[in-house]
Amino acid sequence: MVRMQRRLLLVALCLGACRSEPIAPGDGAATPPSSGARLPGVDSAGSSGDGAPVTGGTPGADEDPAGAVAGLTPSTDADGSGGVAGTPSADAGSSGADVGASSAPDAGVRLAPGSLAVSWMHGAPSCAQSTDPELQVHAYNATTYILRQDKCRTFEAPFVYLLLGAQTALLLDTGATNSVGLRDTVLSLTGARSLLVAHSHAHADHVASDNRFRGQPGTTVVGTSLAAVQQAFGFSPWPSDTAELDLGGRVLDVLAIPGHEQTHIALYDRETGLLLTGDTLYPGLLFITDWTTYRASVRRLAAFVASHPVSHVLGAHIEMTSTARINYPYQTVYQPSEHVLQLDAAHVRELDAALTALGASPPAGPVALDDFVIDPQ
Ligand SMILES: [Zn+2]
Repeated sequence: MVRMQRRLLLVALCLGACRSEPIAPGDGAATPPSSGARLPGVDSAGSSGDGAPVTGGTPGADEDPAGAVAGLTPSTDADGSGGVAGTPSADAGSSGADVGASSAPDAGVRLAPGSLAVSWMHGAPSCAQSTDPELQVHAYNATTYILRQDKCRTFEAPFVYLLLGAQTALLLDTGATNSVGLRDTVLSLTGARSLLVAHSHAHADHVASDNRFRGQPGTTVVGTSLAAVQQAFGFSPWPSDTAELDLGGRVLDVLAIPGHEQTHIALYDRETGLLLTGDTLYPGLLFITDWTTYRASVRRLAAFVASHPVSHVLGAHIEMTSTARINYPYQTVYQPSEHVLQLDAAHVRELDAALTALGASPPAGPVALDDFVIDPQ
């Protein structure tokens, strides 16, 4: 029983993350999702009422809806409330309204504040009738943007990050759909800066729009091979080295954290204290492909947060509900009661401690903690 469920999960994972080609909207309907299967040790969301997970949706959007973000006005105010057409009503999760909450091991460091007071669009019970735009843009502050893709166009609904330095803008990930919408939105925010496009890791739901950025003036797209990532950031050696990236008056630390995927990195922004952790740590199913490597990466991440002030830990997806230990099934396209995006340094410590307690060999099945699920593949 456990084996069967886990095989289903793997099949579903590869649909979203193992192919080299972009994910075409509608693919989710072609294969029965693993959703609904109750993971060993993991409770899934309920199946009735408004909170019922809707999985394997049938998005009606085409591959490249150039007009999909028409009318989208990226928010420039701190709360982001006015920026997005079709912004859904407030979710049932806990409030995201905090500014500069910090573990602050460096008490003297002053972090640039920002806001996560935002209601993320979270899919629809009927995607055919959804009016959500392709992208939601939230200004964390004037030089830091968080973008989320529409769940009805891709169940992955990844979060993409744009950090603006004085000279260079950094885009972390290009999303799960191949579309000009992300590119055009990003370019509208970067101004005259050069643009560096990098990836948290090379899975398909993080690189899908790379080809829209390649060849654009003033734009560099980091390759997705391990060698390309190592060379682009100057890791020496990988993965123990921490690289440095200067965007012009804004320095990022780049940590190598393979284990979910071999090229995975984390970015730490010294200006805001944001730690961007991709698919390695977020409120959802933490798929681990290399247990030993992942444990070592999280150990390094824990050491890093012990010596740096962290305002928030931000990952690339949300799959947990607002109820502790309860996740939405993989491929859910409607998450009305989803967890907030942000975690914090305590979650890094919690993950590290849990991995240490689980030992050198992966557990037989997923292990649910309050805000994420350790899920060896
Ligand atoms: Zn991934």
